[in-house]
Amino acid sequence: MGKSVTLLEIVDFTKLSEFDNHQSITCFMDNKTGLKGFVSIHRSNKHHPAFGATRIWNYATELDALKDSLRLARTMSYKCALAGLKYGGAKGVLIMPKSINNRHEFFKVYAKRINTFSGSFITGADVGLSREDVINMKKHSKYFVGTQTDPVRFTALGIFYAIQVSLSETFGDESCEGRSFAIQGVGKVGSTALEYIYNQASEIYIADINIGVVNDVKKKYPKVKVVSPKVIHSQEVDVFVPCALSSCVNKRNIDELKCKIIAGGANNQLDDEKTGEKLFKRGILYAPDFVVNSGGLISVADEYEHGNYRIKRVEKRVENIKDVLKKGIEECKKKNISPLAQLLIKAKSITDEYM
Ligand code: NAD
Repeated sequence: MGKSVTLLEIVDFTKLSEFDNHQSITCFMDNKTGLKGFVSIHRSNKHHPAFGATRIWNYATELDALKDSLRLARTMSYKCALAGLKYGGAKGVLIMPKSINNRHEFFKVYAKRINTFSGSFITGADVGLSREDVINMKKHSKYFVGTQTDPVRFTALGIFYAIQVSLSETFGDESCEGRSFAIQGVGKVGSTALEYIYNQASEIYIADINIGVVNDVKKKYPKVKVVSPKVIHSQEVDVFVPCALSSCVNKRNIDELKCKIIAGGANNQLDDEKTGEKLFKRGILYAPDFVVNSGGLISVADEYEHGNYRIKRVEKRVENIKDVLKKGIEECKKKNISPLAQLLIKAKSITDEYM
């Protein structure tokens, strides 16, 4: 590992709005492979590790990557809490270098870095990483999960359940039959969520900034209508399904939304809680991401706990997403607050105990 000055030495991260008394933030770099990134641990619960997959992305600046890791780690804590898991939340965020000469070597160095956490951080594949990358890293570190189970499939299953609950709440019928959808990002999660709704939906719009991905999806699912990433959020549909990156619904574009429901797989879909309040006032049902997309986490936690993979056992655990969301919606109606506000109160009260 290099000894250069890291961002954490020159930035007062405690002043960042994304900082929430995180337990630890680690910056690392390796000049040989170009590996550079952060692992942020938000909370750990007693002697249990913190869970959070690893993302690699073209961040404009190191500070953007640090902020993303802080926000994503906090979201992971909330996700664990509401999924009934005893783990804390964390996140690995890597800054995509100009080029990766040897992908295997690049991730081997990362895997060895993860060993230095001695099991207090358990990770797997998020944006930009594949299952093959995780299988490779598992050879160098036992602290990787998602080699037996398929977290993407269970993330998509959870999204499907959340869509059903949201449709039932909004239209009195949970069926996707005749309903319209707009999916932002058709990578691993978006394309798998599409599989669940494809046959029943009347219309499905998709968009992705990666044209190769769009072409592959269009070939497999010819009924989808491809639109520009700039307008996917503003399609007039029943359900907007964000499956790309953070802050896709924000102060700048909230007035352009024409959907009735937002239920998708992306983490941190809203720029902040105020946007959640605005959605509530506009009558758009926002199913909070940290409940909707917890299926993948539930499946890797199950793999970690049992050391094996039993599909029925995981499916049963993932089905709980329906109940958590239904209860959250019921409770918020009584208080006349948004499901986001209600579920945040619940998640924070659980994770505050972990300090
Ligand atoms: P991925 O890298 O496989 O796919 C993300 C896709 O989004 C890519 O194809 C990318 O080109 C596209 N994209 C990026 N910015 C875009 C934009 N502005 N407009 C349209 N498309 C855009 O990643 P993934 O694993 O499918 O994850 C997608 C989201 O779901 C992320 O927010 C991730 O954190 C979240 N999530 C993933 C999992 C999982 O099991 N992989 C679990 C829970 C949550």
